[in-house]
Amino acid sequence: MKHAARMKHAARMKHAARMTGCCVAATLLVWAWPALAAGPSDAVHLPPRTNGAPAIHTWRNAPHAVPGRFADPVQAIPAYELHAIHTAGAHTACLDLVFVADGFTALEKEAFWAAAAADSEALLSFGPYAASQGLINTHALFVASAQSGADHPSTGHYVDTAFNTTFDYNGFERLAVADNTKVLQAVGAAMPDFDLAVVLVNDPQYGGSGGPVPVASLDADSVSILRHELAHNIADLADEYTSPYPGYPAGDPEPNVASAQHLDPLKWQAWITMGTAIPTDDAAATGPQLPIGAYEGARYQDKGMFRPAPMCLMRSLDQPFCPVCAQAVTLGIAARTETLRSRLPASDCVVCKPGACPAFSVTTADVPTLQVRWSWNGSQVATGTTFLPGDKIAGDGTLTADVRDLTTLVRSDPDSLLVESVSWTIHVGCAAACGAGCDADVAVAADDAGGATDEDPQLAPPKRKPSCTAARAATADGRDAAAVAGLILLALAAVATFKRST
Ligand SMILES: [Zn+2]
Repeated sequence: MKHAARMKHAARMKHAARMTGCCVAATLLVWAWPALAAGPSDAVHLPPRTNGAPAIHTWRNAPHAVPGRFADPVQAIPAYELHAIHTAGAHTACLDLVFVADGFTALEKEAFWAAAAADSEALLSFGPYAASQGLINTHALFVASAQSGADHPSTGHYVDTAFNTTFDYNGFERLAVADNTKVLQAVGAAMPDFDLAVVLVNDPQYGGSGGPVPVASLDADSVSILRHELAHNIADLADEYTSPYPGYPAGDPEPNVASAQHLDPLKWQAWITMGTAIPTDDAAATGPQLPIGAYEGARYQDKGMFRPAPMCLMRSLDQPFCPVCAQAVTLGIAARTETLRSRLPASDCVVCKPGACPAFSVTTADVPTLQVRWSWNGSQVATGTTFLPGDKIAGDGTLTADVRDLTTLVRSDPDSLLVESVSWTIHVGCAAACGAGCDADVAVAADDAGGATDEDPQLAPPKRKPSCTAARAATADGRDAAAVAGLILLALAAVATFKRST
């Protein structure tokens, strides 16, 4: 499934879960997604290291066009060793990123573990990735290479490595690519439900690439490539620099670019301060990310395409994300992960006595900006991960826990990706079991109904168990007090009957 379709799928799943109100089962579904992909599948690119420096764009050649071992047929799955680096939760609830070793020999395994851990830390301590680290698992997959390093065809240096990473791709010295097929095959064998694979190549030269399988080297600045490239994969962000990219598809579908025809309203209107001119002149900039506006030049075009901020990681690797791109990354992670992890009671239907209902609780991802709100029939009754009903609920109703991410990184969430819910149907004081349906009039054997001598025959015919819904409605409507009292007596009698029969 392509990235966009997958995002929509996730958004739909969350929406469906919200609409049905019975959510944990739906939200914890196992999604055996294939790896995320970014842009045209055969495109390879490397953004400028600093603003104004040239970017690299090229298209993936047929395997035989590249010196080295791209012509190798796909081999059997190699022996591997998989380690967890950062664990935020179950695969089904988290985004799983796998660092894959290339050019590390068996004797260099420890160096790979260390390098992968360092890159994981560098990624998860940065901007929106840091804010969402409670939703991201990182792993390190070691496959031993016969030789150390990577190919450098420009100098005639070739080595035998597990995934055939080569620099000098299509003549660009710092452009490093791996054999994606081999990488995806190996990661898929080790972790079938992974989301993203990144090749970490054992080479000190600055470089790497983006695409379905991003590549980074051991150079300290290469992690900036990862932060940038993963934003393409996770958030479908466009490049904001202007180096021409002949053949790149037209349009402005990405959340961080807008053509001249799409400036009013802007996709990122929620970030625009009143009075900011649109389009926004470069001279109006008061800082690298301020003010948010519509600056001309983005998506490989000098003219006619606009970006939100003067500067951004999607424009130059030495920058942080602009707020619009940070929002998109946050939402992209949210679309693929679950903040609501479990609930108690596990049953979605609960029958309890007035004042004696059990405690309700949820567990959530470790994201500091999460808030849990409890509502009874739509009215908020508490916050926090545990709700003690006490006398706050009565009659029949629906108890809902909304887990909401209040992060300031997001100002616009049209698909409600930052909200997850779970609900219980509760019958307080009702004698019927959940399976029988408290709201239904359930026939009662004549001898079981004998205690209900004070019932109001007009509201509750003899030999029928009471409807909890009717009792609540009567109370809410302020009906005749005697009738309500009769229903209460009837309910008490029914409870007594229930006790006798159990
Ligand atoms: Zn940006």
